[in-house]
Amino acid sequence: MKQNLISNHVQLDESGKLIHLLGLEGLPKSQLLDILDKASNLLDNNGNLKKSKALDDMSVANLFFEPSTRTRNTFEIAAMRNSANVINVDLANSALKKNEALMDTMHTLKAMQIDMFVIRHKQSGLPHHVAQHLKGVSILNAGDGTNAHPTQALLDMLSIHQHKPNFKDLSVAIVGDITHSRVAHSDIHALKTLGVTDIRLIAPKALQHESERCDTVRCFSDMDLGLKDCDVIMVLRLQKERMLEAEIPNEQEYFENYGLTSERLKLAKKDAIVMHPGPINRGVEIDSTVADCDQSIILQQVTNGIAIRMAVMQILAKNS
Ligand code: ASP
Repeated sequence: MKQNLISNHVQLDESGKLIHLLGLEGLPKSQLLDILDKASNLLDNNGNLKKSKALDDMSVANLFFEPSTRTRNTFEIAAMRNSANVINVDLANSALKKNEALMDTMHTLKAMQIDMFVIRHKQSGLPHHVAQHLKGVSILNAGDGTNAHPTQALLDMLSIHQHKPNFKDLSVAIVGDITHSRVAHSDIHALKTLGVTDIRLIAPKALQHESERCDTVRCFSDMDLGLKDCDVIMVLRLQKERMLEAEIPNEQEYFENYGLTSERLKLAKKDAIVMHPGPINRGVEIDSTVADCDQSIILQQVTNGIAIRMAVMQILAKNS
């Protein structure tokens, strides 16, 4: 419920142009498709990334208050491939450690003529707050608490589209810790916007997100039932850092009931694809044989992350 209170309205200007990317809720389908289209065009026929001058002379700052491998590095690579200057702000050794208020740090960085800020923070809604109060720059949400992770969902949509172009006909299962997953929340918005009518959320009761239930979203606690004949399986990590000690499930038991094994994968369609935003925990939510099998597109998702982040930056640069 909490995420519904966080509004993305400031990401569009009065004329409807995208000036920040905070979340996918409320983002018109045409804009979502435009991002996917731009990202596709940044990949050549062999899936290799192109380069661009779109952000020549612009500066991008990465502010990651939470750990990250994929998102942080692909944002950095995307900015560089767009010809921007990039700084990875060393938050552990910044003035924040001397009790500087976050907004003072942000104003200070803006005074260094930064054009775009990529922000990951454990507090839901923090990038939205910054976007509201720091004028003349673009804010890209790289994951805020349990709320949203828009570029991850966009790269997920691009990855699905590369294998299964007809969103309307798809059955998509999202399995695991849905309660704490900002990825799942953003994916659900994106899938709905793209017209997917069979979205299945598979999770134990304690990790389910019942409030998402609607005509097009069904909730399952039985994984075998939920996986039946689906086209896409998105697996999620147990996000223990967001759970109280007592809420953390027993990993072995969890794997028995919700781990994606080769046996379970057979319940989905023969050509189903397996996705995971990473980091993967082998033997907890996914078996190694599945993570590394031909149906897994986990590493392709990583490459697509660069194309998506380049595309979003190009659109924001154009609208700034
Ligand atoms: N990397 C994703 C995120 O930052 C998923 C995860 O951490 O499990 O939300």
